[in-house]
Amino acid sequence: MDSKALPVKKTKIVCTIGPACETPDILEQMIDSGMNIARLNFAHGDFESHRQVIKKIRAAAKKRGRRVAIMGDLPGPKMRIGHVDPEPLMLERGQTFTLQAGDFVGDAQRASMRFAGLAKAVKTGDKIFINDGYIQLQVQQVAGQEVRCLVLVGGELRSHKGVNFPGIDLGIRAFTDYDRKCLAFAAEQGLDAVSQSFVQNGEDMTAVRQAAAEMDFYPFLIAKIERAGARDNLGNILDASDGLMVARGDLGVEIPIETIAIAQKEIISQANLRGKPVITATHMLESMVEYPRPTRAEATDVANAILDGTDCVMLSGETAVGNYPVESVAVMARIAQASEPHCLSSEIVESLEHNRQSTHFDADKIISLIIHFSTTVCQPVAVIAPTITGRTARMIGRFRLPVWVVAVSPFEATCQSLQFSYGVYAVHEKERPSDWEQYARDWLVEYGISGDMALLTQGSGTGQIGSTNKVGIIDLSKPMADAVLW
Ligand code: PEP
Repeated sequence: MDSKALPVKKTKIVCTIGPACETPDILEQMIDSGMNIARLNFAHGDFESHRQVIKKIRAAAKKRGRRVAIMGDLPGPKMRIGHVDPEPLMLERGQTFTLQAGDFVGDAQRASMRFAGLAKAVKTGDKIFINDGYIQLQVQQVAGQEVRCLVLVGGELRSHKGVNFPGIDLGIRAFTDYDRKCLAFAAEQGLDAVSQSFVQNGEDMTAVRQAAAEMDFYPFLIAKIERAGARDNLGNILDASDGLMVARGDLGVEIPIETIAIAQKEIISQANLRGKPVITATHMLESMVEYPRPTRAEATDVANAILDGTDCVMLSGETAVGNYPVESVAVMARIAQASEPHCLSSEIVESLEHNRQSTHFDADKIISLIIHFSTTVCQPVAVIAPTITGRTARMIGRFRLPVWVVAVSPFEATCQSLQFSYGVYAVHEKERPSDWEQYARDWLVEYGISGDMALLTQGSGTGQIGSTNKVGIIDLSKPMADAVLW
């Protein structure tokens, strides 16, 4: 699996796979350029075409000797208008336009939606956005099944455009019947991770986890934060998830656009505190769908997300349908590499200090702090962290160390899940080494890493979950026998 060299950047890159990058050659170039996670968007394509792509991704990763995780993205209850005719229709500011549950062909006066609860969910004064907010409506009257609206901002309307109800709890669960089919397909294909769209609260994530467990499937579970209400429930969403995605596409329509930067910072910092990875998504290098270079604002956006503490940055249209999929990954990797030396973890330390009255004792929290402070006063060449679930490595990685956390696990699934964590390099070792210090020394030599000192986390020796309770210093300037200080 390993190509015996550590990557040049610690930020992980998620690439959405689509027609622009589905050939083995392009996938391999994307892997060489820094792709860590391939995202399959189940809102598009059929299972047979996804099956073919999965084979190609696995083959490309094997050929390039690099680890690539595959994440299936469950579309959730995305609201859309039905078919309209003729296309496009022009909605004029000040006219009335009616939305109605059903399956009829719409016109310039009305459109259908497949949402039986529509008329119950909204009230007079509510805003409704169509096509990413380019068309804005305000509810004037609810009469029976008809939701009569005033057009506040007009524009061209085409069939099946997305509809958002900013800040309105529609009372529908995130995990739909179609998501269940997608999950079953993800289980059949042994995908590494699953993301759930339109999560409102922790129960939404528990529903996915339970459904997966019934299929004997235990993927890494990512909650997409794109509803206004999800921000208020971040705590319980984080409890029920393995990681988050700041899904700025829908989130930027559901909350006022001027608050999106602050929402991104809040979501990232909550995830960082818990040592759970977070992906920042959508429009990161959007202009590269067409052009070979990003705008200055896009380059700054990627860098700022990394400085905010994101673990992963995501490409959507850029790699799925763009003209420059490989270049998009390469540019993102270069921005990451240039930004990472400026990452600070002071906010995490401050928050932990703020909560220091807590009587709750977690060895991995304390160990991660010891390692953080050690790396600020001396320069280990790496932190070697044996791990069963990946938790210790994630807790250490949240401090954005200047060196790699090398997470060694007997479980391939743990290694794949660590693809989501900044600065963590996963190594699959089926057999538990009998001597971890010797293992660490040999590994560093194999990877051409030299220096004075490395850090090694260790457990009680039982190999049990949660047993990590020691930090060792390996003095690389001395021979094995007298070089470890515990
Ligand atoms: C988003 O809304 O930002 C997002 C990533 O979700 P999707 O691409 O499924 O719309």
